Amino acid sequence: MSKQTLSFQAEVAQLLHLVTHSLYSNQEIFLRELISNASDACDKLRFEALDKPDLYEDAPNLEVRVTFDKAAKTLTITDNGIGMSQQEAIDHLGTIAKSGTKDFMGKLSGDQKADAQLIGQFGVGFYSGFIVADKITVESRRAGLKAEEGVRWISGGTGDFEVETITRAPRGTSIILHLRDDAEEYLNAWKLKQVIAKYSDHISLPILMEKEEWKDGELINPNDENGGRQPGGMVKTGEWETINKASALWTRPKKDITEEQYAEFYKTISHDHEAPLTWAHNRVEGNTEYTQLLYIPAKAPFDLWNRDKKAGVKLYVKRVFIMDDAEALMPTYLRFVKGVIDSADLPLNVSRELLQESRDVRAIREGSTKRVLSMLEDLAKHDKHDTAAGADGVTDVVDADDKAKEGKYTQFYSEFGAVLKEGLGEDFGNRERLAKLLRFASTTSDAVTVGFADYKARMKEGQEAIYYITADTLAAAKNSPQLEVFKKKGIEVLLMTDRVDEWALNYLHEFDGTPLQSVAKGAVDLGKLQDEAEKKAAEEAAEAFKPVLAKLKEALKDKAEDVRVTTRLVDSPACLVVQDDGMSTQLARMLKQAGQQAPETKPVLEVNAEHALVKKLDGSVHFHDLAHILFDQALLAEGGLPEDPAAYVKRVNALLV
Ligand code: ADP
Repeated sequence: MSKQTLSFQAEVAQLLHLVTHSLYSNQEIFLRELISNASDACDKLRFEALDKPDLYEDAPNLEVRVTFDKAAKTLTITDNGIGMSQQEAIDHLGTIAKSGTKDFMGKLSGDQKADAQLIGQFGVGFYSGFIVADKITVESRRAGLKAEEGVRWISGGTGDFEVETITRAPRGTSIILHLRDDAEEYLNAWKLKQVIAKYSDHISLPILMEKEEWKDGELINPNDENGGRQPGGMVKTGEWETINKASALWTRPKKDITEEQYAEFYKTISHDHEAPLTWAHNRVEGNTEYTQLLYIPAKAPFDLWNRDKKAGVKLYVKRVFIMDDAEALMPTYLRFVKGVIDSADLPLNVSRELLQESRDVRAIREGSTKRVLSMLEDLAKHDKHDTAAGADGVTDVVDADDKAKEGKYTQFYSEFGAVLKEGLGEDFGNRERLAKLLRFASTTSDAVTVGFADYKARMKEGQEAIYYITADTLAAAKNSPQLEVFKKKGIEVLLMTDRVDEWALNYLHEFDGTPLQSVAKGAVDLGKLQDEAEKKAAEEAAEAFKPVLAKLKEALKDKAEDVRVTTRLVDSPACLVVQDDGMSTQLARMLKQAGQQAPETKPVLEVNAEHALVKKLDGSVHFHDLAHILFDQALLAEGGLPEDPAAYVKRVNALLV
């Protein structure tokens, strides 16, 4: 074949126009794309050679070589993979066959800046070479063809390309990029190594570069004042070195990987200097095939609370790095998970939009979420504090591995428990599993180790609800007047002091058939826990107190929605509660502090008719002041502030005097 000039398919021309006429947010991705093509070409050869071992000719070691020539301003990527015949070069490099690129074209908005950014993020295969080159020469020989049947393809990236027959001894392809002036930084070994390490470290093929060493300039005149030398420089040594790790850890069988290697790999992907708490490494087969290597860190990062931060799971497609903020792969409440997901089914230039829509991705996300939950369940099961594990009556045999997991769940929970709770509102499908993983302090345990299952196992005869209280601090929760009757009766109450508790509990109304009941909401109903005599006494006290109650309501009508007698108090004269469907005063306060709108609801004041102070109300000349003090103190007791603190102080002082 003599030299021919052919035109690009219209879509290619359109794409090239975009590539060459725009600014690039992420120029360096061209190298990832070309190395990935080289790696694919080697995979194809390996596959075809299964039937035809001759295709290896005398070069069985598949590899990619990256070279550059400063004088000629060229950067060359050479592989000894399958190569291209003349017709293949025309077809493959002149038209767009691959569906991913077509999808990409469909997404183009026409806005040059936005479109350029799309290319920067996702790459468009071979054509990304034109991001840095104003001319590309491809020289190739297909495996199995004669040396004289090589092909040279040349294009300036505009409307057409040239092809001609050449003689090429080595099998495979060389992509020779004639770099633009603004891309000369790629004529530098250090820069190239850096980019390759970033994107292609885990390509399973060795990527080789020629070693360079410093050479002093030539001696011209030894008597010269500066030693008489020409300037020195880096020169090629003829020795080649592999610059990528050439081994994707996650593609190796589990049994060949040591704990240290797992931990080291974690450190490289997470930039954490501590070893992880635990990990899971699996090949998932079925409709969607992928490998997952997921880690749970031992310590929370400083920016854990930033829900917009990049997720820690990196997406690879066939060992080529695609992106590391793939939130599509992990729900936000598991944003602390680090790791790698490598899919064989996704297109290489999968876009963010595509990621969200793809069924494969959804399956990967679901599978990975479940995997993380089972890792946590496993840690929880082996946590010493977790008595629920033994609730089935089976005592687990404790082996060394189990022993190593002891205490880890408590550690995990103190770092990430609050984030995990976000899942109650975010992941309805896994709500029950999540609920089982939650831990709280309680009136019987200061340590945050009580799960709902533990609580249920300890419930009193006749107890019909799981009781909890939310407060700003553990001390405030523990000393809350609302707990008094529960303490008296020996009923455990969960103490919730995380900021998210109040919100998260909105999404959880029961656990394993037992309703959750805030002790600060609605009238206290201890149901069967209260005996008949107690009930009767309470009713009588309430009856006798009625006239005073009416006066109290009147005096506090601007502050309290209602005033009623309660049996929940033992030592305190009064407390505030909210209506059953109301927002807790604590949450309302939090919202206000955060500058958000909170509904203006008035609390209910509950009084202890047995308390000396309350008894004093009847007939007191200070009735009005006492009523307000009662209310304001109830507010103080739960961590709030009286609306008019000065007035409160004045009233108390007047009484003290
Ligand atoms: P993709 O690789 O995603 O299919 P590209 O535009 O990058 O899309 O490449 C188009 C085609 O050109 C490839 O499918 C392949 O057939 C061929 N090709 C590109 N690079 C090489 C190479 N180094 N060796 C052999 N064939 C190649």
